[in-house]
This record gives sequence, C-alpha cells and structure tokens, in this order.
Amino acid sequence: MIYLITNTPKIYNDLADIIRLFYSDCQVKQGNNISAVDSSFVTTHSQSATKSGYSEIYETLINGKKYTFTYQYPFTHSVDEILESRTAKRSAKLGLYYALKSISGRQLPWGALTGIRPVSLYRQLNTYENMSARHQFQTALDVSENKIRLVEDIIDNQKSIYFKGPSDEIDVYIGIPFCPTRCLYCSFISHDLSRHPAPIAEYVDCLIKEINMLKKLKEKYNKRIRCLYFGGGTPTTLGYRHLDTILAALSPTLESTCEITVEAGRADTIDENILRVLKDNNVGRISINPQTFNDNTLEFVNRIHTVKDIYRVFDLAASYHFDSVNMDLIMGLPSETQKHMEHTLQSVKSIPVDNLTIHTLAIKRASKIKMENQVLEYAPQETVAKMVDKGRETAAQIGMQPYYLYRQKYMAGNLENVGYSMPGKQCVYNIDIMEETHNLIALGAGGISKRFFYSEDRHTRFANPKSVEHYIKNIDSIIKEKVEYFNDF
Ligand code: SF4
Repeated sequence: MIYLITNTPKIYNDLADIIRLFYSDCQVKQGNNISAVDSSFVTTHSQSATKSGYSEIYETLINGKKYTFTYQYPFTHSVDEILESRTAKRSAKLGLYYALKSISGRQLPWGALTGIRPVSLYRQLNTYENMSARHQFQTALDVSENKIRLVEDIIDNQKSIYFKGPSDEIDVYIGIPFCPTRCLYCSFISHDLSRHPAPIAEYVDCLIKEINMLKKLKEKYNKRIRCLYFGGGTPTTLGYRHLDTILAALSPTLESTCEITVEAGRADTIDENILRVLKDNNVGRISINPQTFNDNTLEFVNRIHTVKDIYRVFDLAASYHFDSVNMDLIMGLPSETQKHMEHTLQSVKSIPVDNLTIHTLAIKRASKIKMENQVLEYAPQETVAKMVDKGRETAAQIGMQPYYLYRQKYMAGNLENVGYSMPGKQCVYNIDIMEETHNLIALGAGGISKRFFYSEDRHTRFANPKSVEHYIKNIDSIIKEKVEYFNDF
C-alpha cells in the first residue's frame, strides 16, 4: 500500500495515476496525517503558487528513509480559470513524476503521460496552446523518442481522414454486449452466454426502435452517416438472422460511402451464414480477434476455439473479399513468454490482413482475474515492451503504418494499443473515436453518445444503461431523452 497526502486534494486521483505508473502492483490510498498512517511508503505533497510559477514539494518516506524533492513549474498568470487549474494540475503531476523517477531510477516510455490519448494531446499542444508539442513531449513530459516518433507517424497517417469541426456527418455505434464465453481478462460489460441465457430477441427489438429514432434524427437535422461500427461484446454472437434484421433496418439510412465495420471478434462465432449476411448488407470491414496464436493460452483465457479455427475463419473471410479485414492481438497475456508472443507475431505474417491492432494487456478491476484475486504469471514489463516494439516491426515488414493509438489504465508496462493499416485502409471510425472529432449516436446497452460543441472545444456524453435488462425495460424513455439530447445538433 502507498499512502498519498496532498494539500490539493482535488487532484488526488491525478497524482495517484502518476504513482501507478511506477508502482502498478501497489494500491494507492489517500492519507490525512502522516503520523497516523502505518505504512512503509508515504508521499506527502505540498503545492504553493509563487510569483513566477508553482512550487511542488514532495517528501517520500520509504521504509524509514526520507527523500525530499522540489519542483518548480513556470507559468504566466492567466485570466482563464480553466487554463490556470490545468497548469496547477500539470505542475503537481510533473513534480511527482520526477520525484518518483529519481527514487526508482526508472525511465518510462511514455514519461509522465497518464492520459489515454497522447495523439490528441500532441495536436492540442501544437494547435491550441501554441507550443512545440515535440519540445513539450521531450522536455517537460519526458516521453521517449521512440514514442514521440510513433505519435508523429500516426498524425501523418491520419491526414487523409482527420477532420474536426462542425459537420453534417455523424458516426454511429451499435453495442452488442454478448459473448459465447467470458475471457479471463475481460472487463467489458458483456453477457457470458455459456453461463446465463440473455433476452436477445427483445434486445434486437429495442435496437430496431433506436434505429428508427436514428432515421428521424438524421432526416430532421439533415445529417449523413460517415461510419457505422458494431462493437461489443462480440456482435456475431447474435447469429446471422438477428444480424440480418438489424442491418436491413439500417440500410435505408446509410449512404453508399458509409464505412461499416462489424467486430466478428471470435473465431467460434464466424461461419458462412454470418459472412454472407455481412457481405450482402454492404459491411466493408470486419475484425477477427484471435489475440494469440497459442492454443494453451486460448484455453487458459477461456476462449472456446483453437488456432486451427483462427486460420480457417481468416481463409473463409478472404473468400468473401471484404474491403478490409482487421486482426487484433494482445501482448502480455497471462502465462505467455517472449517465445509465445514471437510465435504469434510470426504467425500473423502468413495471413493476408489489411489492419492489425496490437494491444497491450490491461487487467482492469472488472476482470475475473481482479475480482477473484487470481495470482497469475506474466512476462516482465521489459519483455512486453520489447514485443510491442517487435509488433511495430512486424507491421512495417508486411507494409503497414500506425494510424491510431490509445492507452488505458492498468496496462502492462504503461504501454499502448496501436492500430496499423495497409496504405489507404485506415478505419475512419477508429480515428474519429480516438481523436474525438464527430458527433456520435450510440445505440444499445452501454453505448455512450457524444455531442460536440466545437466553438467551445468541449463535448458532452449521453450514456445508455449498461445493464441489458435495464436497457430493454426503459427503451422508450431512453429514446425520448436521447432525442432531446440531440435537439438541434
Ligand atoms: S471477446 Fe472481448 S468482449 Fe467478449 S469476453 Fe472476450 S474480451 Fe470480453
């Protein structure tokens, strides 16, 4: 346990995030009085504002040894309260980052960055805050050259698609929160159909009601759908008839230019019928997500398919000639060594895909592993970092470039998830979502709609209930509220 005491409690959570960058296995708890806390690790923070900037003092006590660290962050006074409080927070976080860096002697690939969207931050620093983002990333934020180049490559590869500003185009997400079994590391809200039957037919009926709402909104405000994404869960768990019903209902609202993606997810949910229905309904992009090419791991993480099945469904998908096929992998799965990960990356080369997404394992609180306090074996962080870099090399060898990136809390080695694509095969939806550029209408349980107010550089969110039962029971009032939420958008 690590105790954190601060004289600016409103930024406690931000400071706790910095501690987790260095000590990801430890719990962080807010302390009030150093003498009242019985701990072998206590950090006490005090922030003060001076004429020239903020001053941060960190006193850290580890097993009786005291480390004192002082950090100064210069600023010019601003009348903008938001900017001022953002600066105060940045100063405190950087002070703690450098204090812990000097104590631990560790150099982190993403330096002091804790946010999930480094690419957006880079753009923002360059565009809005009128600073050199590269300089900020290198100096204040201590980001490695390797990661800065990754961010810059991504910005370059987004150029043909990235657009932020008022637009008559919207994005649409449809959530299908069902899976055949629950993966050991999963933290999504998804029903494990092997354990509990789910009201799938009723769920589809509710989606159709929301699709009718979507049609009306689209017509009333004269919008076009730029991209449509089926996520989950595993949407193909619904089976081909339900998928056909949903896609047929959507069809009249979609322009021929609309990018349609379906996460076909797991090999155990894909067959000829499913692929035919997707193809017949103009789905251009599918994602098949093996995560690993090691049978023992697939079984261990509770997947009910084998590596042979993975090859079979990629072959089958190739025969339907989708515009783009994506493959998802995860580096750092429990019980996997460097050899396992190398085998997975080697296997990818034999499958012709257009997109490759390489994730780093993130074990979140809602996963079975955390909930049951399972103690599992993981490859060391340095090995996972090496494999993430090797993934980038593999993607380059098969002709792909990175085009979107995000980070999550609790990721192995504080690394990142990166989407790679063949030239011209970037997924519009992934860029829009990660860079938060377009109004988003999300249908289904757990779907989060977003409405952008571009002139104020802000957006708001409208969340559908996470529970399928709650969603079905309240569908009419959800639709009513959502129509009001998007009033005059
Ligand atoms: S396939 Fe994805 S959503 Fe489904 S259980 Fe596994 S990790 Fe969770």
